[in-house]
Amino acid sequence: MLSDSPFRHNWLRLGVEILASPNEKKRSGIGLNLLILKVKLTCSVQTKLLRSAHLADLLEEDLGTWRRTHYSVDINPNLNESEIIIMGWVSSIRDHGNIKFLTINDRFGQIQIALKKMDCSKAVLEKTEQIKEHSSIAIKGKVKSEIKAPNGAEILPNEIKILSLARKASPFLIQSRKSVGIDTRLDLLALDLRRPFLQSLFNIRNTVMDSCREFLRKDGFMEVNTPKIIATATEGGAALFPIFYYEREAFLAQSPQLYKEQLTMAFENVFEIGPIFRAEPSRTNRHLSEATSIDVEKAFSDYNDVMNLLERMLSHAVTKIQENNKPFLEYLNITLPDVSLPLRRYRYSELIEMLQNAGESIKWGDDLAFQKLQKIQDAKVDSFYFIFDWPAAIKPFYVKPRSTVANECESFDLMYKSLEISSGSTRVSRKEELVERMKKQGLNIGAFDYHLKVFDYGVPPHAGFGVGMERLIMSLCGVENIRDVVLYPRDIDRLSP
Ligand code: ATP
Ligand code: MG
Repeated sequence: MLSDSPFRHNWLRLGVEILASPNEKKRSGIGLNLLILKVKLTCSVQTKLLRSAHLADLLEEDLGTWRRTHYSVDINPNLNESEIIIMGWVSSIRDHGNIKFLTINDRFGQIQIALKKMDCSKAVLEKTEQIKEHSSIAIKGKVKSEIKAPNGAEILPNEIKILSLARKASPFLIQSRKSVGIDTRLDLLALDLRRPFLQSLFNIRNTVMDSCREFLRKDGFMEVNTPKIIATATEGGAALFPIFYYEREAFLAQSPQLYKEQLTMAFENVFEIGPIFRAEPSRTNRHLSEATSIDVEKAFSDYNDVMNLLERMLSHAVTKIQENNKPFLEYLNITLPDVSLPLRRYRYSELIEMLQNAGESIKWGDDLAFQKLQKIQDAKVDSFYFIFDWPAAIKPFYVKPRSTVANECESFDLMYKSLEISSGSTRVSRKEELVERMKKQGLNIGAFDYHLKVFDYGVPPHAGFGVGMERLIMSLCGVENIRDVVLYPRDIDRLSP
């Protein structure tokens, strides 16, 4: 075992380093003393590491035939005196002299283990001496009702299995809400995810994902999966990641837009929850290079229909969080934003006026940038609301112009304060109009041939939207940095872990 240990190699390397540097000895007496000190210190560290490697070898056991009988949520005073097996990781150890408490976390919560030194077997006590926080363990023991313990009961252990011993102390505190800098946390994200703060956020994200799916399915939508490797830009923008695709260049899809539109021909109402890739080199707290989008497309509808659909989906998600995630909301100490329907709806031109009145230098036709919207300190824009009827020139080619006001289009953004959550619109369903829009936006029509030819075969009128999942969770949970609501964020500076 030991001959393969990485510690041994380091130790040997150090020996070689010393032997190979006789000049260092000659330089001065001080140099020699320092060298000896360095050797002594390093050897002692190495010996400790060797010892802990040994210890882990001796203490760690396999799962064997043990299986969990109860999760933390299943434990209650009614189980008093029953023998059960629990499993999880150690989140705290408190030694009070004659009694020691371990707190074990599993995916649902916490379990208190009480080790009374007078009553506990020597084997169990010895093992617990070695357990550090974060170790994964299994405990066979008796339930005892205890009013002060989580769920009103604790476990008196008869046997302990150390399944995986933590070798190191965590570089950040698990119980604290505020932690060290985000980069240190992201480097060890899997460990950081044990923090109740992130546990709460990702459990809520899971509920939102489930509830949107459930809502759309019930509303008659079919879930689809479209290619993420594509030949041309969806929206003609430059924000694409090029990749090698055999002998050709291809791109990662920035949105399923054109595919979901095509699918309305056959399936009418479709949705997809999947990744979108954006190569904008932005360093903000609201942009990722890889995000998750809930994309929805509905045939025989316009933008008003899908605005209604989107706000109902949002309201359903909020209801589900309230029903299913109470403890997480309590931990985060948040009240979900109010989503009384219908949500407020502002014309784009109305908001431009509001901004102008707030002293912003902005004119009709400009994009409503995040920074500018932040300037409106108004109760009207302090929660979710829609901005509709945008200038046609700043929306993509597939967005349908308004029939009455040619330079505006049937489009909307769902906003939370100054944060964009979703963009949607009625789409152009007639081929000639689509070609004209593409020309106006300076796109290479030939590159979209594969898409345009579909429009020779009766594409139904349709409308849809894309919701950024991470932006939605940020808005619901009051999170400031998008990197806290995505697993393994990708951004301009980060491609690992
Ligand atoms: P923004 O102006 O905020 O960069 P956008 O208008 O470029 O967003 P859309 O193309 O409209 O974004 O995409 C639909 C939704 O997808 C957005 O409303 C947003 O919620 C989400 N989204 C888009 N780009 C990103 C990104 N880089 N990171 C995270 N979410 C994104
Ligand atoms: Mg948008």
